[in-house]
Amino acid sequence: MEQVDLLTIGAGGGGYPAAFRLAKAGKQAVMVDTKGIMSGNCLEQGCVPSKTIREAIEVYRLAKKREYFGLKGDNIGFDYSKIIEFKDNVQKFRYEQHAKELEEAKKNLKLLKGVASFIDEHIVKITTENGEKIYNAKNIIIASGAEPSILPIDGAEYCITSTDLYILNTKIKTLPKSIAILGAGYIGVETASFFSELGVNVTIIQRSKRILTSMEERFALLLQNLLNPKIKLEFETEIKKVEKSNESSDYKVSYIKDGKLKTINAELVLMGTGRKPVTPEGIEKIGIELDAKGKIKIKNSIQTNIPHIYASGDVNGVQMLFHSAERQSLVCANNIFAGNTPIDYMNFNAVPTTVFTFPKAAYAGILPSKAASMGIDILETSYDFIVDSKAQIYNELNGEIREFFDAKTMKIIGAWVIGIDAELLIGELVTAIQNSLDVHTMASLPNQHPTSSEGIAKAARKLL
Ligand code: ADP
Repeated sequence: MEQVDLLTIGAGGGGYPAAFRLAKAGKQAVMVDTKGIMSGNCLEQGCVPSKTIREAIEVYRLAKKREYFGLKGDNIGFDYSKIIEFKDNVQKFRYEQHAKELEEAKKNLKLLKGVASFIDEHIVKITTENGEKIYNAKNIIIASGAEPSILPIDGAEYCITSTDLYILNTKIKTLPKSIAILGAGYIGVETASFFSELGVNVTIIQRSKRILTSMEERFALLLQNLLNPKIKLEFETEIKKVEKSNESSDYKVSYIKDGKLKTINAELVLMGTGRKPVTPEGIEKIGIELDAKGKIKIKNSIQTNIPHIYASGDVNGVQMLFHSAERQSLVCANNIFAGNTPIDYMNFNAVPTTVFTFPKAAYAGILPSKAASMGIDILETSYDFIVDSKAQIYNELNGEIREFFDAKTMKIIGAWVIGIDAELLIGELVTAIQNSLDVHTMASLPNQHPTSSEGIAKAARKLL
């Protein structure tokens, strides 16, 4: 039995940053992953491939606006199979980079291909292609991620998931004429937005009365109103079943709306009904506490109820974002260094979330409805992109920057950005939230002109 200081179950964002940190400090770490490669689902089938496709579509959008920029050129078009090739190449490029990083750290860090399961609180069994291996680990990080959750309806097997669309070497290399998307979470809405820009006939079928129900209502509705109007939004529905259509190779989705049974035909049906944690075998046997929904309970130190066992990233279900997982992983590392007496804590408020639609929408921190539930009075201010120099240069005038301050302290506690550069602007706002900057400091940020970041200070100045 091999002894190690740290074993991570999963080598994605929740696992590898801690493993590298410990290895750098001379500790022995091993990462176990069913894929046998580092970087988890984000690179294989999630954020990187989906955003790579998005960037190709962004270039296409700009190319279509060429005359606005005073440019010329005919035959602006796209070949979806080439976009997929581009996506696969970016994924391969990043895999090569990770392989180099792993090679450089190999003295203290190993990656093992296999499936991990708990024997007891320290002993983990790895089932590999060449048999079993047993590790005795001083500390363990469960970072086994999440997978698409599938509605228990008839015909669910006819649906694809985001994995099928975005995975490395996907079989879906041609664009469908039409797609029905079940669920209006961020994966469904992003995919709808991408495909509609490419001329696909898109319908979203959603149970509740708006998109992005896990996010702030005002934020979600602002974005909803800016999405491509060609996306058909069916709200307040109950999805009944998916069948093969009799007339064509399409699928038929049946759902109830306003008390009536409706159907829609589509070439592809995407199950976009969220993601659920994947947990390794044996966690219940060793007494790891789960919540009512089956997610591993964690403290802000990312520890489970067993102090040397951590649950980092998508598996704890708190914030299913790669960069959150990465920070959580480093919190684990710091607490392991401190002998599992916590010295570092995760601040989930200081993490940006971006929906990479057209336009993009990003938020962070405490937004009005949470502030209200916490009894915090807020003062808010905003800046419309219609008056912004960069937005005017690109003629992307929709959207806003909105900032929320604690009315007592006048410190920033939350923000959102919808529109141009949202995913970048939210970074500066997160830094402000993380450091509790007050309105005077925010108002005096001398951001580069002419960029969309100027609006961050301009919004704050309105409160002075
Ligand atoms: P996160 O971003 O939270 O780290 P990811 O989903 O990106 O999550 O990565 C989780 C990784 O864990 C995936 O590569 C998955 O294959 C792997 N994994 C899941 N369950 C096990 C298991 N029992 N043993 C080994 N690896 C696992």
